[in-house]
Amino acid sequence: MDFAISEKMQTILELINEFVDKELVPLEHDFLHGEWADLEPVLEEKRRMVKKMELWAPLHPKEHGGMGLDLVEYGLVCEALARTPTGVYVFGCQAPDAGNIEILMKYGTPEQKKRFLDPLVRGEIRSCFSMTEPDQPGSNPTMLDTVAVKDGDDYVINGHKWYTSSADGARFAIVMAVTNPEAPPHLRASMIIVPTDTPGFNLVRNIQVMGHAGSGWHSHAEILYQSCRVPQANLLGPEGHGFVIAQERLGPGRIHHCMRWIGICNRTMELMCERALTRAANPKQRLAEQQIVQAWIAESAAEVRAARLLVLNCAWRIETQGAKEARQDISLIKYYTAGVMQRVVDRALQIHGGLGMTDDTLIAFFYRAERAARIYDGVDEVHKVSVAKRILKEYAAEHGLR
Ligand SMILES: Cc1cc2nc3c(=O)[nH]c(=O)nc-3n(C[C@H](O)[C@H](O)[C@H](O)COP(=O)(O)OP(=O)(O)OC[C@H]3O[C@@H](n4cnc5c(N)ncnc54)[C@H](O)[C@@H]3O)c2cc1C
Repeated sequence: MDFAISEKMQTILELINEFVDKELVPLEHDFLHGEWADLEPVLEEKRRMVKKMELWAPLHPKEHGGMGLDLVEYGLVCEALARTPTGVYVFGCQAPDAGNIEILMKYGTPEQKKRFLDPLVRGEIRSCFSMTEPDQPGSNPTMLDTVAVKDGDDYVINGHKWYTSSADGARFAIVMAVTNPEAPPHLRASMIIVPTDTPGFNLVRNIQVMGHAGSGWHSHAEILYQSCRVPQANLLGPEGHGFVIAQERLGPGRIHHCMRWIGICNRTMELMCERALTRAANPKQRLAEQQIVQAWIAESAAEVRAARLLVLNCAWRIETQGAKEARQDISLIKYYTAGVMQRVVDRALQIHGGLGMTDDTLIAFFYRAERAARIYDGVDEVHKVSVAKRILKEYAAEHGLR
């Protein structure tokens, strides 16, 4: 495995870093204190600049208007963009659109691609992914209540979802609904594209998450599907294959998330060092001279580097051996990196004292918004159990144990 960064990537990363510092970091105050809708026109202008620089949609293939980077390269881009909260949005690689684009590319019919995929890749519309339900455990998504029943040429969808991120202002949702209730659990649900202006698609509210409801792309909605009727032509992929497709969406998606979290750690470390070097601890010393603060910085640095190498290694394995072979690594990086980020952000908050609790720095935002990293895309516990089971199985097989 070779992590040397090619000249091409070096140039791309330099351009991105410069853009982030010059164009996006100055928007952080408005991001933290204002409404998403007020920021959107400015972000649209930045998106146009990114497109002109030919840095738009780094992950998506060139024939779809993207940069066509591989997973390791794209991971490095995620890391660079995550230094600031609007980075991935401005470069056209934000969740949940990035994942939806991937599955539309793979499973979309020509009609679906024309209507939903093309404008999504161009950044003209947004989308959302509607799977989790308030009344069923999201960590076991075979237990869905939402149903899609065939009626003539249509599906009629009824169900209650929440945490449909970015539904506010999205043009369509990819909804996971039970279409084949008698099938084995993993073959019961399908993905169906639902335009958000369909009667019966009812956005109840943007949920307050850690005290903030947010708006637009930066929000998480509760949605009622009430006799919501869409043509059967809106089925995405084969009927009953919702989980198979969801798994495909999640594998490489975890690299995107984890490298984004590493980017957040990097920025947090910068803030931590800045504060430690400028804040007095007593008349003669700054915080940076306190050994406990030094220990936090040293521990954070080691953990972030270890996580970064694990994630890059996993991306390299997915690229060279496929997501199936890298399954254990994909689980492992998910909980490990989320935990590292949480610890690093927590230490940074502590070093900042009262200031860390305010929105005068990015830390409180990272602290509340990124806590969810240990919950979405597979809760920590499920990933840990799966890694441990595999290790134990391998050990048992090697040592003739049952
Ligand atoms: C910020 C945010 C954004 C999200 N965005 C989306 C989105 O865009 N679309 C979407 O569909 N969903 C989204 N989700 C939902 C997310 O996928 C679910 O919250 C997640 O799958 C967990 O499901 P749950 O909340 O129902 O928790 P539950 O399944 O009720 O689990 C609760 C807790 O029980 C424990 N637990 C569960 N299973 C096990 C087990 N097997 N072993 C040991 N302990 C266990 C864990 O500690 C877990 O945290 C988002 C969530 C958040 C917080």
